[in-house]
Amino acid sequence: MHVCDAWMSRTSGTPHHLDACRVSRIASCAILTTGGRPAAIPLSSWMSRSRSRGCDGHSPLVWMQEGTHMPAHHLRWIEITTLASGLPLRLAEHTFSGGQPGPSVGITAAIHGDELAPVEALRQLAARLQSAELRGTVRIVPVVNPLSFQAQTRNTPQDMTNLNRVFPGDRNGWLSEQLAATFVAEFLPGLDALLDLHAGGALPTVDYAYIENDPDLSAAFGTKVLYRGPGFPGTFSHVAVSRGIRTVVTELGGGLLRDREYIARTVAGLENALRHLGVLPGEVTRRTDQIVIEQLDTLRPNQGGLLVPGVGVDQLGEVVEQGTLLGTVYNPQTFEMLQELHAPHPRNLMILTRGAATRVEAGDYGYMLAPV
Ligand SMILES: [Zn+2]
Repeated sequence: MHVCDAWMSRTSGTPHHLDACRVSRIASCAILTTGGRPAAIPLSSWMSRSRSRGCDGHSPLVWMQEGTHMPAHHLRWIEITTLASGLPLRLAEHTFSGGQPGPSVGITAAIHGDELAPVEALRQLAARLQSAELRGTVRIVPVVNPLSFQAQTRNTPQDMTNLNRVFPGDRNGWLSEQLAATFVAEFLPGLDALLDLHAGGALPTVDYAYIENDPDLSAAFGTKVLYRGPGFPGTFSHVAVSRGIRTVVTELGGGLLRDREYIARTVAGLENALRHLGVLPGEVTRRTDQIVIEQLDTLRPNQGGLLVPGVGVDQLGEVVEQGTLLGTVYNPQTFEMLQELHAPHPRNLMILTRGAATRVEAGDYGYMLAPV
């Protein structure tokens, strides 16, 4: 008896998962369920068939090596609406289901479309989950606002709205409100935990995580600075918390500086948080130098122009003394110095900075810091 037939007979002809279509050279058997009773064939022969017919021709399909539980991966599209161009507005949701029962964890990014590092971190995490030993389910939506992602803007360009201020949304409201309402209805039900990933956007770089309703989960993500504060109304996380979902919002990276480091830290932080939640096996790593702050000040310039940094990204998480020059705004055409931004408190913990000469408008995020 071929190993695949033997495996099928031991599982009574019922594959563990029937919702996946994925290729893995690790496994030895492919289970085809098209046309009646599931049948097992060696993966090698499925691979040669699939070259001409493709994965979809055999969907749903599952394969696993005898005695192993590889997570099934399922991609679905959350349909939002039709755009003026006639193209659909829809969001990709990747679901990884383990072979063992466990919590359902949602991970989201790019609610603000100019926050790119978390999107790449989720691509890398998804690749690692393909071969991980999972309990429960991980559901990933890497780009919650594709319209602002395409435009590389914080707000949705069609209605100039900040998506993360209009949750839980309104099915009859602005486009961003309709997106929010559908996403809440499609994504939040059944979730035990939510990790909503943010970054500093196109220009600033940031490094902290919010404490929402689960301090240990926030700590497990691994930033040095944890912020316990009121947050903003209308955020996705606010709705999740109101529904009793264990929630953390992270703010890590941005500004294209030291990108690989921040992406690697995001992947490591997510894996540690998934260990904390019991989804991934292994010991949870705990930092011993974390700082909880309850006041977070934003310095916004009063003049637009070119903001030339006085402190760098390497000073994030560090304390600077009162009066330290954080940055200077110049008129880019006349070179006139318009404003100097100084550290306001006796001791200032740097949370967000601009590590390169950047364009700034009056009122933009310049720096974030906490008195310590
Ligand atoms: Zn954001």
